[in-house]
Amino acid sequence: MAQPGNKHPQNVPGPWYCTNSDDASGEGCIACSVCNTGAPDFFVADDNGYSYVYKQPTTPEEIALCQEQLEACPVTSIGANG
Ligand code: SF4
Repeated sequence: MAQPGNKHPQNVPGPWYCTNSDDASGEGCIACSVCNTGAPDFFVADDNGYSYVYKQPTTPEEIALCQEQLEACPVTSIGANG
């Protein structure tokens, strides 16, 4: 489960976030590009390829799309409990 205490610094404020690549729990983003290709309006890669939440989802459809990315992330780096 993603750790809200170790968010990527570029996440926009709100419940959704990606964790930092150096998350000591081993759940940091590994720059696999799953989320930023699956939901590019919401997840964007930084200069090093690590993702952060660019826009918070609000509608049920947007939330469902982001939830798909959360479940697809191979290292559980995406959280919705921030
Ligand atoms: S799916 Fe997870 S590991 Fe892959 S880029 Fe997104 S946050 Fe990073």
